[in-house]
Amino acid sequence: MNPVTTWAGQTAKSGGDVPQRASDPIPLLSQDNLFHPFSKSPFPAVRARGEAIRSLAPCPVCSEDHGSDLEFPKPFPKAVGFDCPNCGWPTHCSEEHWRMDKEHEKYCSRLREVNEDEHDLRSGRRLREFELPGEQDRDAAISFSNWDVFWYTRSFPSMDTDRSRRHASKLLTYPITIASVLHQYSSLTISNQRLTVEGSRSLAALRYTLHGPSGTPETSEQSVNKPKMRIFILGARHESALPPHTWEQLCKCFPAALFHLYFIGPQVSLPLPPQSELKVKQEAEAKARAESEEKTRREGKPAPSSPVEKSEKPVYVPNVYQPPTPPAISREKRTRNSMQKYGVPSYTVPFTYQLTITGMQCKYDEVHAHFADTFDPYTDAFFLFMPGLGFPSMTSTSDSGEPLLQAASPTEWGPVLPLLLSTKCPIFVTGFSPTDVERDVRSLSMTSGIAGEFDWVVTPGENPFGSLKWEAADFDPRVMIKTNWGVWGIRGKRRELLERSFFGFKY
Ligand SMILES: [Zn+2]
Ligand SMILES: [Zn+2]
Repeated sequence: MNPVTTWAGQTAKSGGDVPQRASDPIPLLSQDNLFHPFSKSPFPAVRARGEAIRSLAPCPVCSEDHGSDLEFPKPFPKAVGFDCPNCGWPTHCSEEHWRMDKEHEKYCSRLREVNEDEHDLRSGRRLREFELPGEQDRDAAISFSNWDVFWYTRSFPSMDTDRSRRHASKLLTYPITIASVLHQYSSLTISNQRLTVEGSRSLAALRYTLHGPSGTPETSEQSVNKPKMRIFILGARHESALPPHTWEQLCKCFPAALFHLYFIGPQVSLPLPPQSELKVKQEAEAKARAESEEKTRREGKPAPSSPVEKSEKPVYVPNVYQPPTPPAISREKRTRNSMQKYGVPSYTVPFTYQLTITGMQCKYDEVHAHFADTFDPYTDAFFLFMPGLGFPSMTSTSDSGEPLLQAASPTEWGPVLPLLLSTKCPIFVTGFSPTDVERDVRSLSMTSGIAGEFDWVVTPGENPFGSLKWEAADFDPRVMIKTNWGVWGIRGKRRELLERSFFGFKY
């Protein structure tokens, strides 16, 4: 491999990374042995993924006549049973069709990169790129121009290879996208036309809470008696299962602010039951098993299979069209059940002085009433990560039988968006590709009650803190996305001039 150049212009050895220390674990796979066809991978989870793709994905040559819209593929005749020797993914029904396909070249090198990344993550090497830095040096400003200068100014371990950059950007894209939009040194500005004049007012209000009046030092002492910054992350999935210390990286960009994150959505990940409950359950199961084994032994019948084995989680859950609900998250010391407070499956954890996290497994419209009277454009913002507003609804159709767009559908975002606009707090949205961003934005102009009811805050465009890693879909590995590729933002229209003069701001 060629040497790569890091942001500072130094040359680093590619594929190498940081030298192993004597105390580091010995890797199972070395850096020059990361490529393995899925079906022959040393890791069961990778082999299981290969199996999932074999059963879901169409052979592109067989399905040529079956429509070219990759994101809405029609039923296909033959699944993929042949692993491409260059990328290791199951890609075609047979070697013959693989040879015939001139298009595969376009995808092959990216797929190979994903293959090697997957093996690298499991290689057992010390993953320095996941070692996150502590407090920000008071005298050092953070730059939000791009990942490389962000990592440097936040004192991350140096990201010497593109592979490390891909891994780290995937881990951090959710918290740092939020930080980079809200921060006073955001690279989304009026001068580069990513921020509107209306938007700069919204952000000035939030930045007053986040940074304090200009000129004040940003220290944790400044956060005493400050209102909490509330970030509502709606339709949350994977982001709700990130470890809290990853979310702490958002807080560390704002030393003088306090945060309360709310993950709200039907696919929000909830904590495992407390150890005590888990133990009681396991003991009950073990007792029942012993009794049933004793009974079958006496009756001379074969023993039934163990219920514990059946409930074990599968090695790999395929990422079909709707991503799966992430597995339960681990329970922190102070995790508390919030069912009584919100009336839905939920928890709250005061993780640190600076960070409280609440997760609610429900649709946002079920809990809006809890917050409706308290919304304040100085402290509150919404984030919707890749919400699929412009996708057709899975469940709701129009009178003529056509699926509704999710932005308008009563079972998806239809009831939610007007509630968010009514708060006048900014709503930031990400998309996984240029097409995805465009589709979501277009859906707003096609939805009555939304079209004409909002002002732009951030204009649609690329997000400097999207994940650098390609994600391929199991239902068709030719469909590749980048998490949080783009970002934009809106806010409910202000009909009359509201005078809000506290903090010296006029609204
Ligand atoms: Zn074929
Ligand atoms: Zn290939």
